[in-house]
Amino acid sequence: MYNRRKFIKLTALTASVATLSKYATAKNIPTVPGDRLPIVISTWDFGVAANKEAWKTLEKGGRALDAVEAGVKIPEADMKNHTVGRAGYPDRDGRVTLDACIMDEFGNCGSVAAMENIAHPITVARLVMEKTPHVMLVGDGATQFAVEQGIKKEKLLTPESEKAWKKWLVKAQYSPKMNIENEQHRPGSKYNHDTIGMLAIDAKGNISGACTTSGMAFKLHGRVGDSPIIGAGLFVDNEVGGATSTGVGEEVIRNVGSFLVVELMRQGYSPRDACKEAVHRIIKKKPEIAKEIQVGFLAINKKGEYGAYAIQEGFSFAVCDKNKQDLLIPGESYYKDIKKN
Ligand code: ASP
Repeated sequence: MYNRRKFIKLTALTASVATLSKYATAKNIPTVPGDRLPIVISTWDFGVAANKEAWKTLEKGGRALDAVEAGVKIPEADMKNHTVGRAGYPDRDGRVTLDACIMDEFGNCGSVAAMENIAHPITVARLVMEKTPHVMLVGDGATQFAVEQGIKKEKLLTPESEKAWKKWLVKAQYSPKMNIENEQHRPGSKYNHDTIGMLAIDAKGNISGACTTSGMAFKLHGRVGDSPIIGAGLFVDNEVGGATSTGVGEEVIRNVGSFLVVELMRQGYSPRDACKEAVHRIIKKKPEIAKEIQVGFLAINKKGEYGAYAIQEGFSFAVCDKNKQDLLIPGESYYKDIKKN
């Protein structure tokens, strides 16, 4: 599993590769429409391993939907990942509740929220999409549906997560502190929330996306963030492109972030500029809150051009195509741009 320390090293390495110039942002990657497909991109350093799994489907000519489901199951199963899936940190009551959604090229979508005792929420989200007339199932209803579909119920709270929760209980501050990933700014900070959002375009040019998280660590029981909300944590429009988000979900929901990014791309914005505009809307609406939190958007357009933008430094995203399967790109950010200007 990739961790942030490795990411910092990787960043240094990436920066030294002449072909990628100083920073391999989407802005300076050459655009060769049509030549970029298939492609898969996803949030954070753990996206590298997830993309590689998705790539197994894409390189065989498989469907983007199958690729994104398989891809995000990697961090969902990772016992060291405490922000996604089965080893996710619990809520303030010690209960692990998971959120996920999935969307395909036809505008079909499925979602589960605040679901307990099921290790792969993305698979249940897909089953909601394919086997029910509904889009979203929550809580016990989602778990019950998963079991009816033959999925095994299991205890998710790992000894490590339990230990972290018990430590948190000592002070039990019921307003979860947001992590900002830049270790230079916050040495030793603990990452208490992150999400894998993944977008893929298959060889036929069809787009799908998946998004899955355990949400904010030690959240109020029943809290649901942006990640399972279609339009907030994820949105795909096969005519235009797709977008996904990570960070403090409340601010993404308030701005219907991923839908906004896709609509901006429809109006002609590049993926990176669409993400930047969505970040600016969040900051404009709540400037005081924005100073203290992280939100990052990641987007891809129909041609396979991609881009990202975040409020704070520290965001990264992974890219995988036929040229390179393990590219990790540091995201641009509002506060870094402010420092530069
Ligand atoms: N967006 C997630 C949530 O609010 C957390 C994250 O991605 O950091 O639940």
